[in-house]
Amino acid sequence: MHGTQQTERPLPGFVGGTLDRVDHVRTNPALLAQAFADPAARRLVLDGLEPVEAEGHLVLEPIGAGARIADHVLLGVDPQARPIFARLVADLGPNLAPTPRSRAIAGLIPADEVALYGAARSLVHWHARHPFCSVCGGSTRPVKAGWSRRCEACGAEHFPRTDPVVIMLAEHEGRVLLGRQHSWPEGRYSALAGFVEPGETIEEAVAREIYEEAGVRVHSVRYVMSQPWPFPSSLMIACVAQAQHDALRIDATEIEHAFWCDADGVRAAMAGDSGAPFVAPPQMAVAWHLLDRWLARL
Ligand SMILES: [Zn+2]
Repeated sequence: MHGTQQTERPLPGFVGGTLDRVDHVRTNPALLAQAFADPAARRLVLDGLEPVEAEGHLVLEPIGAGARIADHVLLGVDPQARPIFARLVADLGPNLAPTPRSRAIAGLIPADEVALYGAARSLVHWHARHPFCSVCGGSTRPVKAGWSRRCEACGAEHFPRTDPVVIMLAEHEGRVLLGRQHSWPEGRYSALAGFVEPGETIEEAVAREIYEEAGVRVHSVRYVMSQPWPFPSSLMIACVAQAQHDALRIDATEIEHAFWCDADGVRAAMAGDSGAPFVAPPQMAVAWHLLDRWLARL
């Protein structure tokens, strides 16, 4: 669509992974054992779920003798032909909320490594939280190189979650709708967002969320880009929609405030001007890219 232009623009965090996910290896025990025993194989070092970085890169370690393949997920094979694994941890403790470090990592290491970390974080988190079968309550164990779990009692197979979230700008006569949540840093505004519900299309979710949160009816929803968001397992689906009107009816339980901002205001915020009408979201967030592309008319 706009391929050339998009590749020249910066990427949101967790986008730009370069691993070959080698699905054929996951389901082939001989190939999987070969990958695990490969002297080039590496294991991503995590501190719980938090990233570990040194000299501008994630820390990868050789897989030591005595390691069990059943305790690992095969994330994929990197461009240097190294199989990359992460260790599954049964007990991560009750609090798995991200620390600021897990988001700041986007500015410290290359984009493909941020994407690698995001995938590992989501998977390790999912395994830690799904030791039991949601059908019968039996114990589950990882299968397919950590890309699913099977119940040892009833045989049900469970797959890692990916939860779709729509995040969107409503546009009306050259202005876009921005909102802020109560918990955000002072002055911060961003695109509205919400989970897609069962039975909904992306377009319907965009329209419903904008109406629920701001009372605005929209049409002509256009997909712009997406971003994995591993806190714990969202897929952000960024869209632009056309508003039928600019009258707002704010749902105060969802958002604190919302307003229509023109291109000059968005440009000032993106530039970090002190007189800007709002504080822009960070560049690692897909909302930053949604605003950037709206300004560039992409
Ligand atoms: Zn079961």
